[in-house]
Amino acid sequence: MAQQPEHIPRSQGGRRAQRVYEPGERIFAEGERGDTAYIIQCGQVELTRYSGTSIDRIALLDPGELFGEMALVDGRPRTANATAVGAVELLTIDRAYVEKKIAQTDSLVALFMRVIMARFRDQLAMNQCGVGEPVGEVGAGPAKLSYAEDLVRTTKRMEVDFALREALDSSELALFYQPIMDLHTGDLAGCEALLRWRRRGADVTGPDEFVPLAEDTGMIVPIGEWAFGQVCRDLKLFDRKICVQDKPPLYISVNLSGRQFEQSDLVQRFQLLAAAAGADPGRIRIEVTETLLIDNPTRAQTMLQDLRKAGFRIAMDDFGTGYSSFSYLHQYPIDILKIDRSFTSGILTDARIASIVRALVAMADSLGMAVIAEGVTDPREAEYLRGHGCQYGQGYLFSPPLPIDAFLENYGM
Ligand code: C2E
Ligand code: CA
Ligand code: CA
Repeated sequence: MAQQPEHIPRSQGGRRAQRVYEPGERIFAEGERGDTAYIIQCGQVELTRYSGTSIDRIALLDPGELFGEMALVDGRPRTANATAVGAVELLTIDRAYVEKKIAQTDSLVALFMRVIMARFRDQLAMNQCGVGEPVGEVGAGPAKLSYAEDLVRTTKRMEVDFALREALDSSELALFYQPIMDLHTGDLAGCEALLRWRRRGADVTGPDEFVPLAEDTGMIVPIGEWAFGQVCRDLKLFDRKICVQDKPPLYISVNLSGRQFEQSDLVQRFQLLAAAAGADPGRIRIEVTETLLIDNPTRAQTMLQDLRKAGFRIAMDDFGTGYSSFSYLHQYPIDILKIDRSFTSGILTDARIASIVRALVAMADSLGMAVIAEGVTDPREAEYLRGHGCQYGQGYLFSPPLPIDAFLENYGM
């Protein structure tokens, strides 16, 4: 029996992924909409096609061979009949599974696949008709449409990707700083560094418009590294320009993408960048999200511990938006809990949200974690949070993220 490929589940969407066919049983017929591809595990499968006058065998497939995949990639009807020769056992791969995998792959690779498939279908049709031009529905209809859309989407993504690569080289990327305030004293406690793209001839672009793409393409790795280095240098600048006499020194928080976790030497790189700028790691906070922990649980564990050992502080960002498993809080070395702004905005209007926030603050406190409420926009929210033991707040009430000059003007000496 052929070995089952590791990455294909035995069951998809509750359906058994293995099927047995009787000798002579039809697996699929020419012209049908194809929803499944198959890998032969045992037995043989005959592929035939109607030529206009007779049914011709086009292939006899053996165990380990794949068939029925074309219709899954381009959504076109089956171009052959498949019949079991003797008893046959097949591993089935359904459309939803393949579409999910194609959606997860790089859009350029997916586009190449669809174009190659459409060309192959054209070629098949030409061979069948013996003429130079593609005929019938081949090259037209749904297949062409679906890849035309892919083409537009991919072209746009590639344009942004190229522009982003240039942006990093030509200093179009900048960090804006948003203050994090001590709600008890009203003092500036630190700030969060947030990416902005000052595109030539365009308005300043926020990270929601380019960070997801940069994460897909991997560009977030050099961008994140640049941001980290810039934060280290700016920390030194803040020390010269912002007076914190009789107060704890300011810190800067920087966001970390899951893609950066793929770098095995991330901690050493960060240590080198901090050392080169003469920045104290204890004043740099690294913000991670629950998604990052869920996607790479084992790696996250060692990476966060190593970052901690190197002296950096770890903040759990957007807490409450993901699965919010409390087990993360004792499983990972987290120093700071950032309560997502969807909670902060509900504390005045929703008693249940207010109870959750109070419970979170109490829990974080007993675990020795500092709490920052994000998205504080109303003085009554700040008052409520302060009254219930939440020490820090960040949000438009205090200030939006500011370019460094404006930040220094507001908070500098
Ligand atoms: P985040 O880490 O949750 O950052 C907080 C976001 O909330 C920021 O949006 C900030 O401008 C916004 N915000 C702050 N106060 C308020 C408020 O009172 N009301 C409202 N409605 N919004 C508020 P921004 O700067 O657009 O950043 C969006 C996201 O982009 C960030 O969410 C973070 O996930 C990501 N991001 C930003 N900079 C970086 C970076 O350097 N690296 C990575 N990997 N991601 C980044
Ligand atoms: Ca953040
Ligand atoms: Ca956040």
